[in-house]
Amino acid sequence: MTQRPLAAFVITAGWLLLGGCAHSAQPAAEPQPIIDMHFHAMGAGEQGPPPLAMCVSGVNLPVWDQRQPWPDPFVQWLKEPECSDPVWSPKTDDELMNQSIEVLRRYNITALTSSAGEGVLERWHAAEPTRIIPTLHFNVAEQRPSVETVRQWFKEGRYKALAEVTNQYIGVEANDPAFEPYLALAEELDIPVGMHIGTGPPGTAYLGFVNYRARMSSPLALEDVLVKHPKLRVYVMHAGWPMIDDMLAVMWAHPQVYVDTGVIIFVLPKAEFYRYLQRFIDAGFGRRVMFGSDQMVWPGVVPKAIQLIEEAPFLTAAQKRDILYNNAARFLRLDTAPVK
Ligand SMILES: [Zn+2]
Repeated sequence: MTQRPLAAFVITAGWLLLGGCAHSAQPAAEPQPIIDMHFHAMGAGEQGPPPLAMCVSGVNLPVWDQRQPWPDPFVQWLKEPECSDPVWSPKTDDELMNQSIEVLRRYNITALTSSAGEGVLERWHAAEPTRIIPTLHFNVAEQRPSVETVRQWFKEGRYKALAEVTNQYIGVEANDPAFEPYLALAEELDIPVGMHIGTGPPGTAYLGFVNYRARMSSPLALEDVLVKHPKLRVYVMHAGWPMIDDMLAVMWAHPQVYVDTGVIIFVLPKAEFYRYLQRFIDAGFGRRVMFGSDQMVWPGVVPKAIQLIEEAPFLTAAQKRDILYNNAARFLRLDTAPVK
């Protein structure tokens, strides 16, 4: 998720993540490479006043009693975790950046990273130029750069993908005329595009995004764009949760479409995430699911997300490697050999 309105808090395509340290999923001495397709650089206060807790694979999502504005119980949910082992967010911008980079290095992760903040991505990239791969956060409602400016940025190599595209937050469909020239450019320049389709924070429409609609979580909305731009390389961020049938229909009809596991991998109860992930595998789409964390302000969530893939009882060792690395390497057309 990602985006940002509420004054104090917001959402990002990623939202919520990290905490002090990464206790679980201790990596081996020489960890195999991982690609995180969905990573955010942001300030420590962008999801609410830090520190905020995240219960990875928690049991209950928050409930709204409308006698209070929704942001209050939502933040309370992040302040008073039900679980015994929450991941807490760092309190300062520097701590958030440093802990995020430490996790990337420790687990041998390369992360496609976007930011809605002024100069934030540049700072993170300067601190870790190898593992932080800058991508262009994009929303047609914001002060968007012109098509020619975006063309120049991509030609300079400033960004490697157009992601996260957060138009759903403002109620804009994938085939909106205002977005069309950017899709045409991405196709022309062969730039991967990551579309936010699926879940934002619970109660997104009451967090400042008044035009956010759940019905726009259907990946079917992508079809016109995919047919119009057959060479466009699109991945559906958040895997279109919870619209699994629509998602599978799109993947069948459009064999070029990939998905990432951003946010649903850690914010959903484990049984639901596993059931959702298994649907892709059982349907034969195991080569088009890519690991994405949607790290926002909880770097400590990333190791736990990796652990969920590594411990999934329905995945073979080869399928785990595909999700954690090989599928993304193929989608991104990296010049590397598959990792067994
Ligand atoms: Zn998103």
